[in-house]
Amino acid sequence: MKPYKNKINRIRSFALALIFIGFVVMYFGIFFKQHPIVMIIFMVLGLLCIIASTVVYFWIGMLSTKAVQVVCPNCGKETKMLGRVDMCGHCREPLTLDPELEGKEFDEAYNRKNHAQTEK
Ligand SMILES: [Zn+2]
Repeated sequence: MKPYKNKINRIRSFALALIFIGFVVMYFGIFFKQHPIVMIIFMVLGLLCIIASTVVYFWIGMLSTKAVQVVCPNCGKETKMLGRVDMCGHCREPLTLDPELEGKEFDEAYNRKNHAQTEK
């Protein structure tokens, strides 16, 4: 089975990774003190990663307003889901908003707009 993750959590960890990468890149710039141009390039790249991360965080905020809050039938906790199928953020139980898909094998393809079943 593929390691599915709740979409919002996945984007959030991506944004967190970007901040981390940004700081690491800026940190490497310190090793090039003798080459100011290289150092500046590292600093700018690091800064870009951090800016990208804030953009991603902003995007999460936008997505969260569209996300549907549901109570997970498996663990009873509230979780936010995106699209027609998503995973519980706590126990990774596959969740669906579409009764047609209930009981079917979890497939992220159901989220795609060009999927045959979503064309109605
Ligand atoms: Zn759950």
